[in-house]
Amino acid sequence: MADEKLVIRNIGLMLSGRIEAPILDADCLIAEGGRIAAWGKEADLDTEGATTVIDARGVTLAPGLIDSHVHPVVGDYTPRQQQLHWIDSTLHGGVTTMISAGEVHMPGRPNDPIGTVAMAIAAQRWYDNLRPSGVKVHAGAPLLQQGLEEEHFRQMAEGGVKLIGEVGLGTVKDGKTANRMIGWARKYGMQSTIHTGGPSIPGSGLIDADMVLETGTDVVGHINGGHSALPDDQIVCLCENCKAALEIVHNGNERAALLTLNTARELGKLDQLILGTDGPAGSGVQPLGILRMVAMLSALGNVPAEIAFCFATGNTARRRDLDVGLIEKGFAADFVLMDQAQHAPGKTLLESVGLGNLPGIGMTVIDGKVTSQRSRNTPPATRLPELV
Ligand SMILES: [Zn+2]
Repeated sequence: MADEKLVIRNIGLMLSGRIEAPILDADCLIAEGGRIAAWGKEADLDTEGATTVIDARGVTLAPGLIDSHVHPVVGDYTPRQQQLHWIDSTLHGGVTTMISAGEVHMPGRPNDPIGTVAMAIAAQRWYDNLRPSGVKVHAGAPLLQQGLEEEHFRQMAEGGVKLIGEVGLGTVKDGKTANRMIGWARKYGMQSTIHTGGPSIPGSGLIDADMVLETGTDVVGHINGGHSALPDDQIVCLCENCKAALEIVHNGNERAALLTLNTARELGKLDQLILGTDGPAGSGVQPLGILRMVAMLSALGNVPAEIAFCFATGNTARRRDLDVGLIEKGFAADFVLMDQAQHAPGKTLLESVGLGNLPGIGMTVIDGKVTSQRSRNTPPATRLPELV
């Protein structure tokens, strides 16, 4: 509703999502009509007329986390692991936005051109019409299939499809054909990603650095493999040569994740790093996957925790052209409120995450509405925000 006003006060620490300035000098945030309106010191803000007040009680507020790589199928059910409510579980891990890398686990998935077009539009619609537990799922990410023509990409774009799923998981297996199709997708405003690394499950194949470079997608999907990573020299080559987003996933090789991080840092390309889970996958669903990546990269990759959070918020938002993931006027009021987990070492939340510990989540907010309170999945937070 346009006249709804949310005030979040007593915020102990506010993270911006911006890698160039990750911490804001603010203890209060105001959203109007589900959009960020203002933030700063409470005394300087107009908090009158609030319809909802959250007392953060000193905890940290960050933009809601973004999972750049998921494989949804329909609603809050995945046939991959026969699991219900995996999206709700992931919301309890702080994720408020998910981006499909292809609805690959759909039983009986069509691989012919017209079937591919139909399913892409349908998948975009059913997640646009229904947000599981409030989570924004950007879906309708078709695979590149033999026989797709420019006309099909035009039809899909007109039908609302904005994504291309992992190149290599469809019947197009060569860089030349993939590059031609990605060109059509880009012409019609669609973003693309690619499966990087060895085969993930029986039926998928190897995509090496040459194919990634030849195809030229907007995202180098799971540069650390999903799960088998490319040899080190190929990962370094991709970091050196790609202007695309470099995506690290939970369902990948952790050593390759650290190699990517260290190489990107040496090249001054930390702004290209984004995070995903790749769930549901053979390794299961990963409700805390994004938090675990933030903590792992911070602790083992020596990245300040406030920067690691940017990999899962502002970096992804900028690369994906989303109106979430950053504390910015007019952006969606999607937040995660979290605190140091009970009995976790470290003097502050950031120090504790930097030591490899997960934070405890106390609340999520999407479009200015509270979507979950104390997480049932994270370790318990020391302090909890409160709906006043
Ligand atoms: Zn993959």
